Amino acid sequence: MPHGPHIAIIGAGPSGLMAAEILAKAGCRVSVYDQMPSPARKFLIAGRGGLNLTHSEPLETFIPRYREAADWLAPAIRALPPDALRAWCEGLGQETFIGSSGRIFPKSMKAAPLLRAWLKRLDSLGVVAEWRHRWLGWEGSALLFTHTATDEPVRIHADATLLALGGASWPRLGSDGGWVEMLQAHGVAPSPFRPSNCGFIVPWSDHFKTRFAGQPLKNITIMFEGKTYQGEAMITQNGIEGGVIYALSASLRDLIDAHGQAVIHMDLRPSVNIQTLLRKLQKPRGSKSFSRFLQGVGFSTVAIGLLRELTPTEHFKTDNMSGLAASIKALPLTLTATSGIQKAISSAGGIAREALDADYMLHNSPGVFAAGEMLNWEAPTGGYLLQGCFSTAHAAAHGILRYVAHKL
Ligand SMILES: Cc1cc2nc3c(=O)[nH]c(=O)nc-3n(C[C@H](O)[C@H](O)[C@H](O)COP(=O)(O)OP(=O)(O)OC[C@H]3O[C@@H](n4cnc5c(N)ncnc54)[C@H](O)[C@@H]3O)c2cc1C
Repeated sequence: MPHGPHIAIIGAGPSGLMAAEILAKAGCRVSVYDQMPSPARKFLIAGRGGLNLTHSEPLETFIPRYREAADWLAPAIRALPPDALRAWCEGLGQETFIGSSGRIFPKSMKAAPLLRAWLKRLDSLGVVAEWRHRWLGWEGSALLFTHTATDEPVRIHADATLLALGGASWPRLGSDGGWVEMLQAHGVAPSPFRPSNCGFIVPWSDHFKTRFAGQPLKNITIMFEGKTYQGEAMITQNGIEGGVIYALSASLRDLIDAHGQAVIHMDLRPSVNIQTLLRKLQKPRGSKSFSRFLQGVGFSTVAIGLLRELTPTEHFKTDNMSGLAASIKALPLTLTATSGIQKAISSAGGIAREALDADYMLHNSPGVFAAGEMLNWEAPTGGYLLQGCFSTAHAAAHGILRYVAHKL
């Protein structure tokens, strides 16, 4: 078992656990604290959707996905790039594959087998797991926790600390953003949290939401700010969500913040050009109702419902099929707000790069490092979130090793 310097890692998500592995392998005594009764709950939920670990595109395309934070995170991503993450996953007995979109997944498509193997490895490295420990901040030079089962205070002295407390989406999984107050009291001013990879509010009619909430719009293209995004969206009770919406959610959110709304245009039939579509729409309908006719041309009931919800009624008149074809190819949809951080896949906001040095150590707190989603960067879904967490954790762990080098 290691005898080196004692490192306290607070937060047992993928960021904290990755740092724990690196530090324990380097000979540190590592304790990982988490307020939940078990580790990595958000990571396990991510596994429900297939656990998109990272992406196979070249780094020149990959790194700009981190938007304004790209130059900040680039060194960390180059130091632990997608290939290395993939090799790490395979080293834990979880084969990976590249999906048709270039995304990388474990073959099992789940987080649980990977997490099980990982926790076993951490245990064999001597990492001490301390669950049900809610971090409350500092008391003098000690880290102060409360044991959530007994309410007893717990004070810990460590040679270095890594904060890996996550963002603020899905707070019931543990990352509730409560750490912001602790850091504010400590002279660090994190940027406010905002939803990222989130759904949006659309004021649907009662009729539309009653009939179509929960139904997917498959194979659509969204046009926004001169770019097109292909994928699937889901109608919800109060709006719209899903992969293709998440892909542009940061820009949509910023536009709504600035102007109170954002308008996207949907192509409900991207595989067919407008002339071909018009020819199909102009075919004789016989005795079929218009909805049945449109179903026959290949539209789902939800796509037809959406057209009726958003298109002027005159576009449904037989002599105005060019109007309907135009609506089908560029249906405007007005989004009025994000659907909130509670159910967002991730959050933007958190500790700003200015608060940290190049080793991810807080300028105002020597020996205190931070990594993962609690830092102020955001990225779309596609594996970029976990890659950003793993890479910043890897960078912070190496920063800690430099900090405690004289004690190793
Ligand atoms: C539904 C869903 C699906 C997702 N799918 C994917 C995906 O397929 N691919 C991808 O790249 N990303 C995905 N993500 C995002 C990814 O899971 C997160 O970005 C990642 O888990 C963040 O890791 P982290 O270690 O920084 O923080 P977290 O995983 O949030 O871990 C932080 C930990 O800190 C603990 N903590 C917080 N405050 C305290 C405190 N005061 N005291 C003690 N402990 C505390 C929490 O309990 C938690 O365990 C998904 C997210 C969701 C919600």
